[in-house]
Amino acid sequence: MEMENPIRKEIEALVEAGNLRGLLDKAGELHGHLCNYLSYGVIAGYVAVRELGVKSTGMEKVIAIVETNNCFSDGIQMVTGCSFGNNALIYRDFGKTAVTVAKRDGTAMRIALDPDFEDSREKDYPEAYELWNKIVARREKATQEEHKRLMKLFEKMSINELNKPVDKIFRIKRMKIAMPEYAPIFASVRCSICGENIMETKARVKDGKPVCRDCAEGAHYVLDGSGISAKDT
Ligand SMILES: [Zn+2]
Ligand SMILES: [Zn+2]
Repeated sequence: MEMENPIRKEIEALVEAGNLRGLLDKAGELHGHLCNYLSYGVIAGYVAVRELGVKSTGMEKVIAIVETNNCFSDGIQMVTGCSFGNNALIYRDFGKTAVTVAKRDGTAMRIALDPDFEDSREKDYPEAYELWNKIVARREKATQEEHKRLMKLFEKMSINELNKPVDKIFRIKRMKIAMPEYAPIFASVRCSICGENIMETKARVKDGKPVCRDCAEGAHYVLDGSGISAKDT
């Protein structure tokens, strides 16, 4: 029996009830809008936690390895409880709408958006995609009305997509994976230049004193809209 986790009881209850619509609304609180890729993340997260029989306590008992930084990942984070901040979310910068959810014993499933299904979306929702291409992809000027219409169309699409058969939306593979170690806990040291505390393992040494990477090199890795890259500060 899984332990009750009162912190996530609302989400656990929605999973228990198979209430995808409710889960989509919860994911929307994090994501800021409803869209079809958020729905796919919600469904994938739901399928994984149901099949693996896992509940998150935010302690890396269950992990999710996402392969994209698009809307899909927010559905995954909300439903599985594997997040950026609790170290249970691992990001592989492949640019694929896919996730592998795994338990501590390595039992896992990879759920990837089916390419034929994905490519056929535009045909099913022509108006939504036409507006999206105009306003989001080409960043063309749009009226308030068009913006509102876009949000409305995507909201409707996201809700409608919840009813599609799971085996049409995804390619699903069950597997065993080698689990990563629990995230290690490190002491902090103080940067001798800016005076801020840094995780010990991230510190550099300059003139025999610890400094942060920012002060030492003026460079850092960043996850932004384009994925992970090295950037100058
Ligand atoms: Zn979205
Ligand atoms: Zn510093």
